[in-house]
Amino acid sequence: MSDDCVFCSIVDGDIPARTVHETDDVLAFLDANPLARGHTLVIPKAHARHVGDLEDDLASALFAAVAELTPRVQSAVDADGANVGINDGEAAGQEVPHVHVHVIPRFDGDGGAPLHAVGGERPDLSDDELDAVADAIAE
Ligand code: AMP
Ligand code: ZN
Repeated sequence: MSDDCVFCSIVDGDIPARTVHETDDVLAFLDANPLARGHTLVIPKAHARHVGDLEDDLASALFAAVAELTPRVQSAVDADGANVGINDGEAAGQEVPHVHVHVIPRFDGDGGAPLHAVGGERPDLSDDELDAVADAIAE
């Protein structure tokens, strides 16, 4: 629990939310400023800023909830697809410093963009540079 965290306040019941799913470890509720009908946020109840801060069990519980909820959200609003993603860190657009997975329903012809659109200018990487990046991640 973090004192000034809006999502911890939702978990504690101090701020209202339209809850759609709850387990001992995970809570899901509608985004208050939705990008689409049915835009849902799935969070661990325990406060953590970054996805990499989650213990293995909690990461598993979070993803299990996302996997269960994504088709439910889609069918509830009769969507044709969904974007599922995390803004991890301020540079990635994270505004609320408590891990949350966005489930954003998508509709044919809705004028939105794929996740590919979130990156900046595409880097032009040589094979050697790609090898070095892969090695650094795999290390
Ligand atoms: P992010 O930029 O990934 O940190 O997104 C934060 C999301 O939280 C935004 O989509 C907000 O609309 C949403 N949000 C902020 N406050 C609340 C709240 N009290 N209840 C529900 N959603 C919220
Ligand atoms: Zn929090």
